[in-house]
Amino acid sequence: MKKIFENKNNSINPDGKIDYKKSLGQNFLYDTNLLNAIASDGGVDSTDTVLEIGAGAGTLTRVLANRARKVISYEIDKSLIPTLENIAQECKNVEFHFQDFMESDIDLIIHDRAKVVANIPYYITTPIIFKLVEHIDKFDSILVLIQKEVAERFASSVGGKVYGITSVILQSIFDVSITRIVRKECFTPSPKVDSALCKLIPHKRYNFADFEGFKNFVHLAFSMRRKTLVNNLKSAFEKEKIISALNNLKYKELTRPEEISVENFINLYNMLNN
Ligand code: SAM
Repeated sequence: MKKIFENKNNSINPDGKIDYKKSLGQNFLYDTNLLNAIASDGGVDSTDTVLEIGAGAGTLTRVLANRARKVISYEIDKSLIPTLENIAQECKNVEFHFQDFMESDIDLIIHDRAKVVANIPYYITTPIIFKLVEHIDKFDSILVLIQKEVAERFASSVGGKVYGITSVILQSIFDVSITRIVRKECFTPSPKVDSALCKLIPHKRYNFADFEGFKNFVHLAFSMRRKTLVNNLKSAFEKEKIISALNNLKYKELTRPEEISVENFINLYNMLNN
């Protein structure tokens, strides 16, 4: 992990005219050092198409536009249209979509490949991530600024305190890392908790016959955290078959779900479904 951003030290334009809407997760960034650091962690260069979810006042959009070939940016709050139209005037390579990202058709919008770089609205972090997952083949990388605790869950390794369903599902298809912590004081207005930049890079290390089936399997495996894996899975598979698969992978019968690595979750899923 790199630098921790503590506060706003090089602010541009903290716009007094914006009526920040808490219900839309509007915590904006104005610090140019931080905005540049985000674009740089996103690995954006002049050949890239970048997808941004939640343009806000367009401060990150502008920084991305200065580095990328093209920026496609979504914003649901129509009261921000005049501010964002000024950015579009200034940066001709930005395409704004004033609509709910959750209703967008990614296949229609992204023709080749893209990188996602976004300070996303926290109230829909998981739905946004899983919408991107559905189109994983379109993305070289995904860098999102999200609540620190959520990022820690996404990136946790087996044995970690917060290792669980989303850690296993996301790490089965992405290399997940936290590139920076961003303190709550860096945002306008400040949220209650700190944030982290979380980077997800697709990998193809594992083979699944069926990713949807794997997701359901992981949910079932963690359905009761204090129970053993055998207890959680026995409604769907024969107990003896689960024990034998666990033993094959050198786990004991009483192993709990949080003790199983991502790779072995995939092995177990494949063994139990054969
Ligand atoms: N990118 C800006 C920045 O860094 O200062 C704003 C980030 S703010 C955390 C998230 C933005 O997402 C807000 O402007 C909010 O209105 C917008 N937003 C919320 N829900 C959305 C949705 N479903 N689709 C598109 N934009 C959304």
